[in-house]
Amino acid sequence: MIRDAAAQAARLAAARRLVDDILIPAEARMDEEDRMPEPARAALRAHGLFGISIPEAHGGLGLTMEEEAGLMLVLGRAAPAYRAVYALNSGGAAQILLRAGTGAQKARWLPGLARGDLIACFCLSEPEAGSDAASLTTRAVRDGDGWRITGRKRWVTNAPEAGMLMVMARTGGNGARGVSAFAIDPATPGIAILPAQAKMGMRGAAVADIAFEDARVPADALVGAEGEGLKLALAGLDKVRLHLAALCAGLMERMVEEGRRHALARRQFGGPIADQPAVAALLADSVAEALAARCLALDLARARDDGTLRPADAAAAKLFATEAACRVADRVLQVHGGEGYMRGAAIERLYRDVRLLRILDGTSEIQRMVVARALFSG
Ligand SMILES: Cc1cc2nc3c(=O)[nH]c(=O)nc-3n(C[C@H](O)[C@H](O)[C@H](O)COP(=O)(O)OP(=O)(O)OC[C@H]3O[C@@H](n4cnc5c(N)ncnc54)[C@H](O)[C@@H]3O)c2cc1C
Repeated sequence: MIRDAAAQAARLAAARRLVDDILIPAEARMDEEDRMPEPARAALRAHGLFGISIPEAHGGLGLTMEEEAGLMLVLGRAAPAYRAVYALNSGGAAQILLRAGTGAQKARWLPGLARGDLIACFCLSEPEAGSDAASLTTRAVRDGDGWRITGRKRWVTNAPEAGMLMVMARTGGNGARGVSAFAIDPATPGIAILPAQAKMGMRGAAVADIAFEDARVPADALVGAEGEGLKLALAGLDKVRLHLAALCAGLMERMVEEGRRHALARRQFGGPIADQPAVAALLADSVAEALAARCLALDLARARDDGTLRPADAAAAKLFATEAACRVADRVLQVHGGEGYMRGAAIERLYRDVRLLRILDGTSEIQRMVVARALFSG
């Protein structure tokens, strides 16, 4: 649902300028330094993007899903590490607060997250609990009117600059119903943010493990009811998956642009390689997949706005778009020949970045499981 077509057109035009003038030019430096350059961060804040999924009442952009998806199609043209910083701020952690937080919890955290003054981390995965998140063992035990938390969270995105942790910890018995959500100040004694870990791509969005050793948090850190944590975390997944589908569509369009530019500029056998049908076909297949992902993301975003989205459809969209984006990255790298394999080529960087998207927020295998369950449950 687009509520105000003129406002959305202005938003998209501003996002295009942001991507072309600031984000894309800063990508190589971000990859090299594994840190988002300050001017890019400032520009993302100025555009309100840290609050992309937060309602206006709490300082966010207050967009419909279709408006968000439209924006992600444009912003997806820039390296996905940017999104891993700004969109995660209003993703998992903020969505749990919006769904189940008290007025005081929302007032404490959401405006800072929407402005980008505070960076939120979503702490679900553990060394022994990845796809099987319900098996997590980080434990929160009652201590007077508060809680003591002990355990370890793994590969937490943005942990080195965390200003707020949304931690899933076990307060009850085994399984999903024993897990509760806690919004925690990372400066709490007993919490250690471990050194950032080196990774293949998505440089600029650092990840680190977080250790909890008898960390005492107050009673009002608990968000929602005891035992509701995992349910709350999973409830936000549809939105995240549609976001990623739109991001991937934008990213595929960017990679096609990179491939087109190279195919026109690079000459072999007396002419541009774009004249070679085998090369052109690599890009034609990529155009088709980018278009399919764009239509899918927008169509399902509208369905979410009007309340008809089925969770399995969001999983299918994430599955298709992330797998297609990896195919496109591979084809466009092939179009670049050896140059695509060398450090410095945008496609070399994007190829490394995009690979993570088939693993995050539910691996492709888990998305297939969700889709297949829906198929056979009817
Ligand atoms: C860069 C990065 C950033 C991350 N950021 C965060 C973050 O901010 N917060 C957070 O909580 N987590 C984060 N994670 C963790 C991420 O969510 C997990 O990596 C993901 O859920 C998969 O878990 P796993 O890596 O333990 O893989 P595993 O669960 O061990 O899976 C390994 C393989 O087995 C397959 N598999 C597992 N179970 C099944 C099944 N039932 N059926 C079919 N196949 C199966 C998987 O699909 C995969 O191919 C991050 C990870 C990375 C790499």
